[in-house]
Amino acid sequence: MFKVGEAAITRIEETFLPTYPLRTIFPEITDAQLEEYMPWMAPHHYDPKSGCILLSVHSWLLKVGGQTILIDACCGNNKVKPGRPFWHMLNEPYLARLAAVGVKPEDVDVVMCTHLHHDHVGWNTINRDGKWVPTFPNARYVFSRPDVDYFSKIDADPKEGPAELGTFRECVVPILEYGKADLVSGGAHRLNDFIEIDSAPGHSPGHVFFKLESKGERAAFVGDVWHHLLQVHHPDWNFPKNSDVNQARASRRKVLDHCAATDALVFPGHVGLPFAGRIEKTQSGYRPHFQP
Ligand SMILES: [Zn+2]
Repeated sequence: MFKVGEAAITRIEETFLPTYPLRTIFPEITDAQLEEYMPWMAPHHYDPKSGCILLSVHSWLLKVGGQTILIDACCGNNKVKPGRPFWHMLNEPYLARLAAVGVKPEDVDVVMCTHLHHDHVGWNTINRDGKWVPTFPNARYVFSRPDVDYFSKIDADPKEGPAELGTFRECVVPILEYGKADLVSGGAHRLNDFIEIDSAPGHSPGHVFFKLESKGERAAFVGDVWHHLLQVHHPDWNFPKNSDVNQARASRRKVLDHCAATDALVFPGHVGLPFAGRIEKTQSGYRPHFQP
């Protein structure tokens, strides 16, 4: 568990696995860089055996101000994920892991998705008798309006593939239909005394990040502003599948600057062990401090 002021933050794991080949994801990397980075990359951020990057899929459970807040909702079980064998048709005891830290679905007050990609919305809903219903019956779900608009448009387009459609229809549309969603848009938006929502578009049009302040200490929940620490060393290296590659780069620098300037404890969506750390701004760029 991590403490930031009076906030307690726990990682709820879904999976932590080798996923995509590093050289496919980051074709910019040179042999010299690979050798230079290997001491910190292996074994927690890179699997030398397969040549794949390790990605964690997790939620951040946040308890602050008497509220129980879940940040990002992973892939979910029994979801068809073409092209992603490591996340296809999972059967993970995610809800049991929540229960193990004393949280039942009905205890969750707020679910916040940094963006509406398939690996951040999975547990929003659960299938009951063939119908997708909210997993967390008492929660308000915070989504960004630009993402809802963007994926609604894709959903209405018959030319688009079925993978993201399933995600949106199964994990987002039911929340909207049950009237459980609060949509935020534009710049900074205050959720409560502790949390501000700020925009960081580019990976998706409505990607947001969450800034926490409690008793003078700061945290930032940054979702997929970067997937891997290589992108802290090289902020221009994008992970594939962005809605706007240049916007993604600009948002990465904006969020890195914010994290460095506030000395925030940073909680990304997929970075490997120890899963959270800090960012230092250097003369030439940024240096991550994520020591296990
Ligand atoms: Zn993701």
